[in-house]
Amino acid sequence: MICDSCGQEGSYVHESTRAYGTGDRLVVIENVPIISCRNCGIDLLSAETLHHLDDLRAYLRSNHADEASVRPVKVADYQTEVPSSSRDTIELDSVG
Ligand SMILES: [Zn+2]
Repeated sequence: MICDSCGQEGSYVHESTRAYGTGDRLVVIENVPIISCRNCGIDLLSAETLHHLDDLRAYLRSNHADEASVRPVKVADYQTEVPSSSRDTIELDSVG
């Protein structure tokens, strides 16, 4: 694909997860099509994608979002310290 930014061949579409808002307003949208360029490194969203993301954000923040869209996700503040035990402890729960 030709890149809209630098005009060279080398852009491609891949899917990514995007998060919007914070706290109670946080919503996460998976499999967002992102247009990236190997030459200039830019990440672009098409106008159509942006419009659909607007609709999705409004939908998720409404009270009409379907149950499948409401599931627990793990959220960390970047400033949160990671306890050292969580890095090198092997989960033994399933071993019995
Ligand atoms: Zn480019």
